[in-house]
Amino acid sequence: MSLGSGLAKGLAITLRTMTRRAVTAQYPESQPELPPRSRGVIGLFEENCTVCMLCARECPDWCIYIDSHKETLPATTPGGRDRSRNVLDRFAIDFSLCMYCGICVEVCPFDALFWSPEFEYATTDISELTHEREKLRAWMWTVPEPPPLDPAAEEPKEIAAARKAAEKAAEKAARAAESGAAGPDAGEGSG
Ligand code: SF4
Ligand code: SF4
Repeated sequence: MSLGSGLAKGLAITLRTMTRRAVTAQYPESQPELPPRSRGVIGLFEENCTVCMLCARECPDWCIYIDSHKETLPATTPGGRDRSRNVLDRFAIDFSLCMYCGICVEVCPFDALFWSPEFEYATTDISELTHEREKLRAWMWTVPEPPPLDPAAEEPKEIAAARKAAEKAAEKAARAAESGAAGPDAGEGSG
C-alpha cells in the first residue's frame, strides 16, 4: 500500500468515527443505566438477622465482622424454661476487601442481606470503606423491589400453604353456618 492511499484510508476511518455517536457515558454528568441486579453495595436488614454467623463463616475474604452477646429471656409460663437469644452488637463489612461474590447474600437463611446497585461510595480513606451496621442499614433503602413473579411460575410454597389454610377455614366456617341455620328446623322435623 502506498503512503498516499494509506493516509487516505486512515483519514476515512477517522472521519467515519467522528460522525458516529459516542458510546462513552460522561459519568458523573450522566448516570449509568445499571441492570436491576447490579452488585453495588450490600444492605443489612437488621431485624431479620439472627446472628447465626453463616455469612461471616462463608465469606471467602473474611471481611464481615460480627459481634454479639447472649441475652436470657425469662420463661413466659410458670415452670417453663428461660430462653436465650443472640443480640447483635456489631455488624460491619469491609468493602476494601470484599470481592462482591455475593456468597453472603446467597447463604443468609433469614433474608437479612440484599444487593443494592449504589456504587458511589469511593473514598480516599480506606478505613471509611468498612461500613458499620447503621450505614449497612441505610443502604437497605436503596435496594430495588424484587421483580414481579413470572405469571407461569409455580406458586411459592408459603403462598400455597396460606391459601390452603384459608380455604380450609372458609369451608369450616361455611359448614358451621349451614349446620347452625339447619339446626332448629332439622330438630323440629325429626321430632
Ligand atoms: S460479597 Fe463475598 S466477599 Fe463480599 S462480604 Fe459477601 S461473601 Fe464476603
Ligand atoms: S447469615 Fe444472615 S442471619 Fe446469619 S449472621 Fe449473617 S446476616 Fe445475620
